[in-house]
Amino acid sequence: MIESPLLEKLNGYIGGRWTDNVQGNTFDVYNPATGDVIAKVASMSESEVEDAVAAGKSALRLTSPYSIETRRKWLEDIRDALKANREEVGRILCMEHGKPLQEAQGEVDYAAGFFDYCSKHIQALDAHTIPEKPKDCTWTVHYRPVGVTGLITPWNFPIGMIAKKLSAALAAGCPSVIKPASETPLTMIALFTLMDQHTDMPDGMVNLVMGKASVIGKVLCESPDVPMLSFTGSTEVGRKLIQDTADQVKKLALELGGNAPFIVFDDADLDAAADNLIANKFRGGGQTCVCANRIFVHEKVADAFGEKLAERVNKMTVGDGINGDVDLGPLINKAGFDKVKRHLEDALEQGASLVAGKQPGDLGDGLFFPPTVITDVTRDMCCYREETFGPLVPMALFRTEEEVIEAGNDTEFGLASYVFTGDAERAQRVAAGLRFGHCGWNTGTGPTPEAPFGGMKASGIGREGGLEGLFEFVEAQTVPRGF
Ligand code: NAP
Repeated sequence: MIESPLLEKLNGYIGGRWTDNVQGNTFDVYNPATGDVIAKVASMSESEVEDAVAAGKSALRLTSPYSIETRRKWLEDIRDALKANREEVGRILCMEHGKPLQEAQGEVDYAAGFFDYCSKHIQALDAHTIPEKPKDCTWTVHYRPVGVTGLITPWNFPIGMIAKKLSAALAAGCPSVIKPASETPLTMIALFTLMDQHTDMPDGMVNLVMGKASVIGKVLCESPDVPMLSFTGSTEVGRKLIQDTADQVKKLALELGGNAPFIVFDDADLDAAADNLIANKFRGGGQTCVCANRIFVHEKVADAFGEKLAERVNKMTVGDGINGDVDLGPLINKAGFDKVKRHLEDALEQGASLVAGKQPGDLGDGLFFPPTVITDVTRDMCCYREETFGPLVPMALFRTEEEVIEAGNDTEFGLASYVFTGDAERAQRVAAGLRFGHCGWNTGTGPTPEAPFGGMKASGIGREGGLEGLFEFVEAQTVPRGF
């Protein structure tokens, strides 16, 4: 079992206090590197989720809103608490997710960055009067908190994803009911411990509920006291939330799945492209929404690029991330492992060939999947059509710019994309042609707190980060004054 001063309670948090888990229902949390159960966490009832919504409602202030200074202080306190506890929060994250320790601690810094950004830009949410005087009125625009929000997060960034949502929700003055993924609730409990100890937020401003997604999702979708849901996760669950909230026309912010193209032209710096691909693809064990999923390489440089990838991949170390010196940890669970294996098998059966890595029959037990590179991938293969979410690099060859833009867009997803070329005009054309919310030019970097990030098409609705993300949890209200 995991021991930590940040995990003294393994229950929910409602109305400013930890719940008692009177019914005693729990679920197990595993360390994917060892297979051990490391905690038993409260599985909460429908009435407890309703209590959390009620607590949020009691913390919402409309007629006498929390001042900008008050909200800024909450954000600064959370930022400072995360920074001061980055090592311990990162250790907990590493143990329940499996990503290497340094990467896990880096995710805590990333999370602190969102609270920092919102604290520094919160003034943008202040009311302003527009310069024109249409209809003989003075028009003031107010940014009102949307209300109690449901924040639902995935397991692949246990602290990063909640930081994006919670920083903007608090900046807006919105109370929240937060549900972490069942694979990774411990990092969220650690965050709540820090907020409980180091901030002066009113009771009910932040509430933690854990347990069955169907139970929690039902209350959040059906309650008229929750006018907005912000969800990060699969497109499949995102679609269900759209359907389940349609009757009430709830405001939705959705960060959903991806199928990122990574395009390497024949004039690209191949070493830089290979280094960026490795950093991008193997972050989080290949389990990030912005991971390159289809690697399009110009046919003239395909062999050379494949060799550079193989050289790098063959040097990578795989193991328990807590040891601190591994490049790649385990996959999150057996279903995740089996999906990557299925994609590899399917590709090899349909004519792809192995450039680096192991044959599917040699993968062994456990959740450690070796970094793998395959080439001659075609459109009908599973690894091309679906989000693999694992350390498999599938290379497909192309000849022309038009062809690769069309191929890159041949997916329902539109989250992240990357283009490597030495030709600036071509980079501009390709970025404009790719229907993706993020397009890295000669970089494999993903989102940052300072810039808006989100998906086009079935990858989502709305933006997180940047000023656009800061405005996600407010409703603009206009007050024209006649006399
Ligand atoms: P998931 O299965 O959709 O789960 C995400 C969250 O939704 C979890 O907390 C889950 O709870 C909860 N959930 C499941 N069914 C629900 C329901 N009916 N009502 C309410 N909540 C429900 O996704 P995942 O496997 O954790 O995450 C991987 C996916 O997230 C990938 O597709 C990835 O691309 C995407 N992602 C997108 C972004 C982005 O910024 N666009 C970022 C990160 C990840 P349980 O854990 O209890 O099932």
